[in-house]
Amino acid sequence: MRFDCHMHTHLCGHAHGRPEEYVHKAQERGINLITFTCHIPMEGNGFLQEGIRMNRSELSYYKVLVKRAQETGESLGIQVLYGIEAEVFPEDERLASMKELLKEESFDFILGSLHHQLPVYRRWLNKHRMRSDREIIHAYFQHLGDGAASGCYHSMSHPDLIRIYGTVDWFEPADHEAIIKKFLETLVENKVCMEVNTSGLSKGVYEVHPDPLILRWAQALGVHLTLGSDSHRPEQIGQHFPNVLQLLDNIGFSSLSYFKQGYRIEVPMNEILTEHQGNR
Ligand SMILES: [Zn+2]
Ligand SMILES: [Zn+2]
Repeated sequence: MRFDCHMHTHLCGHAHGRPEEYVHKAQERGINLITFTCHIPMEGNGFLQEGIRMNRSELSYYKVLVKRAQETGESLGIQVLYGIEAEVFPEDERLASMKELLKEESFDFILGSLHHQLPVYRRWLNKHRMRSDREIIHAYFQHLGDGAASGCYHSMSHPDLIRIYGTVDWFEPADHEAIIKKFLETLVENKVCMEVNTSGLSKGVYEVHPDPLILRWAQALGVHLTLGSDSHRPEQIGQHFPNVLQLLDNIGFSSLSYFKQGYRIEVPMNEILTEHQGNR
């Protein structure tokens, strides 16, 4: 079993590739299950979405495209799932319409992402006088934890994204052990997964999200993981998976999970590794 549970289609504006192209790329790479997770529409909430998010009116088209990709996938032996990358934000009012949409629509998988680089979050930090790296990093992990406790999301995406895009000058996980562990404990208490996001290896500081040290803490605390490439074009599907799977195995994770119809399905690590080695 090989799966990739984070990818974006052309509907996101800043991503390229039609769902069917992803299915064919998955087949080429020997990946048996993919989950589309386009960015959720966020009109009228102060989120910068013009051109980089699909609009609410496009959601039904997104569903149709995923359905078609499911049919193509079926003929090729690839499961295609319907997911979404939703937002995490400290002001609940801004998420009200998003949360309604999450209730209405039956997604297989809901990722929760805090995009600190968006002006809306930077404005929040300013308004609350979060100026030092330490204050910002603590706010960020607190908000991610609050998101996990909200019950809206299945897995918290790229959890140390704060290290890139310049919101802080420097992020060293060891300096923030208490707040990061508190976030990890919140995941366990609320039975929410953490995402291992391999896109970090292609950008920023060229490290997996989250940092291997955070992964070690997560393993010790019993956090379950989902895995995603965060592909913004079909060629990125499954990017860096062999190395990252090896890392996760070395750290001691014995399984990875994916979500279908909102339920977590756990796949043993040795089953995943065997297939990856066989397919290399
Ligand atoms: Zn994106
Ligand atoms: Zn994404």
